[in-house]
Amino acid sequence: MKKRISILGSTGSIGTQSLDVARKHGYRVEALTAGSNVELIEKQIREFRPKKAALLNADAAEDLKIRTADLDVRILSGEEGICECAENTEADTVINSIVGLAGLRPTLSVLNAGKDLALANKESIVAGGRLVLNAAKKSGAKILPVDSEHSAIFQCLEGKPGNRALKKIILTASGGPFFGRTREDLKDVTVAQALAHPNWSMGAKITIDSASMFNKGLELIEAVRLFGVTPDRVDIVVHRESIVHSLVEYDDNSVIAQLGVPDMRIPIQYALTYPDRYESPVPELDLAAAANLTFFKPDYDTFDCLNICREAAGKDGLMPAAVNSANEEANLLFRQEKITFLQIPELIREAASHAVNREEFTAQDVFELDAQMRSLVRAGV
Ligand code: NAD
Ligand code: MG
Repeated sequence: MKKRISILGSTGSIGTQSLDVARKHGYRVEALTAGSNVELIEKQIREFRPKKAALLNADAAEDLKIRTADLDVRILSGEEGICECAENTEADTVINSIVGLAGLRPTLSVLNAGKDLALANKESIVAGGRLVLNAAKKSGAKILPVDSEHSAIFQCLEGKPGNRALKKIILTASGGPFFGRTREDLKDVTVAQALAHPNWSMGAKITIDSASMFNKGLELIEAVRLFGVTPDRVDIVVHRESIVHSLVEYDDNSVIAQLGVPDMRIPIQYALTYPDRYESPVPELDLAAAANLTFFKPDYDTFDCLNICREAAGKDGLMPAAVNSANEEANLLFRQEKITFLQIPELIREAASHAVNREEFTAQDVFELDAQMRSLVRAGV
């Protein structure tokens, strides 16, 4: 039977690449959602004919309703509408490619409905922690990683997810546009410089997170959650070429890696076809053309976001949510040119120092903490 999927965040970088995969394999698309990009979602609706679609923005949703009046599609709005698209369709797998903590409620909706979750929205598993893992456990739904590093680890562990012989995970990082720079060099880098990622074309928020290395910090916490290891068993290595997407080391010191050209459609497709593999729209890897694969230790002194996330991972509970929310606000303020690049980690540390940690928490607690962290970051400017 044809695979049925829904895509949350369909107008973004991961969302549009997910639709490429759906187009190639003729998947049935049950629902699409986005923030406010009416033009693009209308085009997507006309091509893929989902039964439901939602926009976060109510005015944009009204506009979309008028534009698609000739089609058999229900247009919804707000977070509620997005969650309705996440849970109440015939899709068997839902791709969450929303950016930021805004993806948490939809992630929980998908899992509570017992649908498999192809997860690009790392912020929801970082901040939601056990809430997300328990929702999956309770309904029996699978969480399939879309993040390229986690897809790589998942592939290296193939068939043995809870492998007891797994010694450590080695997460690769491109190092972003500021690899090799000192703190002094980073004092007055501009938004345009931070947005110029050497290997990947991605949404603005994750591109800035890559420049500050907060993205790798989020991925460290994501790996801890997805693969059930302690943070000290996740190493980070800088690999400029983004060809080796991550590695695992077993007790016998055998190291297994997953390689491929840097194109997100490989991990997106694998999350949809697991455990099977099919032809993909991505070109073959030409190892001789790649020639040199280089590896370096990350610079924890210059990129304090790595330490911030490691510390939060060690404390667990609500601390990953605290640093994630503080970063979302600092990342935004930097993009708006209201703070400097080096203020990002400073403001996160300051805000998170006021967070009260708790082992047990609800989604409401995460959202209250989010509001507190964001206002502390703004107050620190
Ligand atoms: P993007 O900004 O290109 O797209 C985000 C999508 O979410 C858009 O469709 C947008 O309309 C929607 N959206 C934005 N804010 C929303 C909100 N508040 N509520 C509902 N919908 C909202 O982002 P992206 O680069 O595609 O990244 C999406 C997620 O995937 C992020 O969590 C990112 O970390 C992760 N990811 C991205 C890449 C990549 O290559 N782009 C790689 C790995 C992981
Ligand atoms: Mg990644």
